[in-house]
Formats: sequence, structure tokens, C-alpha cells
Amino acid sequence: MIEYALFDLDDTLYPPESGVLQAIGRRIEQYLIERLGMDPDTAARLRVEYRTEYGTTLAGLLAHGAADPEDYLAFVHDIPVEQLLCPSPAVERALAGLPWRRVIVTNSDRSHAERVLAALGIRSLFDEIFDIRGMQYRHKPHPAVYRRVLRALGVEGAQCLMADDVVANLLPAKELRMTTVWVAPQARLQQGVDFAIPNVAAIVEVAAKVKAQQRMRQSPRPSPRRGAGGAFS
Ligand SMILES: [Mg+2]
Repeated sequence: MIEYALFDLDDTLYPPESGVLQAIGRRIEQYLIERLGMDPDTAARLRVEYRTEYGTTLAGLLAHGAADPEDYLAFVHDIPVEQLLCPSPAVERALAGLPWRRVIVTNSDRSHAERVLAALGIRSLFDEIFDIRGMQYRHKPHPAVYRRVLRALGVEGAQCLMADDVVANLLPAKELRMTTVWVAPQARLQQGVDFAIPNVAAIVEVAAKVKAQQRMRQSPRPSPRRGAGGAFS
């Protein structure tokens, strides 16, 4: 039985076209230029290289001992979240109606998560926020992140559903037997993905299907008719 729904934050709880991640991307390049003294071309190139090699720019900077993670996180998340996001009644209704407890598992930091949830008007719907700081700056899809969340919640993977806009972040969740939901306009079923939905409001359809599957598992199977032969023998 699923008890917890683990939601990614950015581009999962709001549409990608909101521009939040693009604004953070610009701040990351600004950080490389202003704080680390790079020229704009080097900053743009290094950002792509670090993301490819290490998963995030921060992970690359830390691997090279090049940045103070707290200074970095404060700098790159200094964006006008409140101007980019607004509440969606459909999303609030969908999340509020879920039969599971809701938590955030994000590669960003807590203060950014708090601002995003407040701007979307859904902060009170989430029990907990697991952020990059709490993960010692490890980020999804590192398996340690998922194990740490499960330990903190005191549950097994099979008791969790994870929703994320990045498929790579769902694969370790699937390995731990979580139910996985890919939330993205281009989402489709594939290996490691149990459900694919175009936006987070459609999570209600996932909840309905999970409930139906649980009912099917719980209902007793027809017992074989003795001596009748045929399909049940
Ligand atoms: Mg995301």
C-alpha cells in the first residue's frame, strides 16, 4: 500500500514554461562570471560540461573544490519566484484529494522550495521537504538520496510513489520498488515508468488507477469448481 507521494519540485509542480529553471540557469552563469571570474563563453561551456559529467553545476563545482555550496545555492535561487508562479486551483484540488501523505524531494534548497510552494499556494499540503542540503549536497538520481528519504520516513520503497519531470530521477526509485510517475508534457510509458501524465493535476488519474489495482489485488480469486474441469481445473 502506498503511504507517501514523493514529489519533485521544479518543473513538476508547475509547468516548465513558467521560466523558473531558465531564471535559475541565468543566475548559475552569472555566479560563474561574478563569483568565479569566468568570461561568459567559459561559464556557458563549463555549465554544460558539469551538468553532463556530474549531473548538476553545483556537483561539478564541488568536485573541483571551486565553490562554497551555501553561497552558490543562495545566489542561484535569488530569482523572482513570486512573479513567475501563481496558484492553480486544479493543482491544489488534485494534490489535496490524494489518499497519500505528500512530501517534496528536490535538488534545490529548502528556501527555494518554501518560496515555490508558497507562490503556488500549496505549502500546507506537504508534510516535509527533503532538499539538497539535507542530502549533504548529493542530488537525485544518486541512490543515497532515495535511501535517506525512506529511512527518514520509516517506510519501504513499495510504500512510496515518486513523481518527477526527469525520467533519470525515477529509475533509482523504481529499483527500490516505488511506484513511479513521469510528469511532463512529453511523458510516455517506458522502462522504469509506471504512469505518464502531462501535468501534475493529472495525478488524480494515477490515484484512481492505483486504487483500482489495489482493489483487484484484495478481491478474492474465484475458487476452482471441483471436478468441473475446464478453465479452473
Ligand atoms: Mg524537476
